[in-house]
Amino acid sequence: MKLLCDQMLGTLARWLRLLGFDVYYANEKTTDDEILDIAEKEKRVVISRDKQLVERAEKRRMPNIEVTSTDLDEQLKTVTSVYPVNNKTVLSRCSLCNTPLLKVKKEDVKGKVPSKVFDAHEEFWYCKKCDKIYWKGSHWVRIEEKMKELTEKVKAS
Ligand SMILES: [Zn+2]
Repeated sequence: MKLLCDQMLGTLARWLRLLGFDVYYANEKTTDDEILDIAEKEKRVVISRDKQLVERAEKRRMPNIEVTSTDLDEQLKTVTSVYPVNNKTVLSRCSLCNTPLLKVKKEDVKGKVPSKVFDAHEEFWYCKKCDKIYWKGSHWVRIEEKMKELTEKVKAS
């Protein structure tokens, strides 16, 4: 699923990437016109807190999600209740730049991650663009907790 988050939703954009969504994040220089053009061209769902932008997307018959909350959990819930998280795609994209991550061998990251991390983990992923190595460390535990929370919340609502 291809999504686009507006300027006000940077944290949400990073989380959605970690959950495996392809997310374009509009920076503060991107105008509303540009956002709509990019979303239309790349077939992305417009996710925004800006009512006007959502209305414009609606008028152009583009898929959109209006986020009303400033709370990250609520925002994630809003999006994942429409587009459920696919467990298989979790941790498949760099949270910083949206590039698909490559699975790398443990021996390839030796000396590139703290030795404590190296000893504790078997699986590693790599973003070529950011030269950043990912592993299922503390941020991963947070993701899993959050995903569990979200599934429970969606079920409960
Ligand atoms: Zn990256």
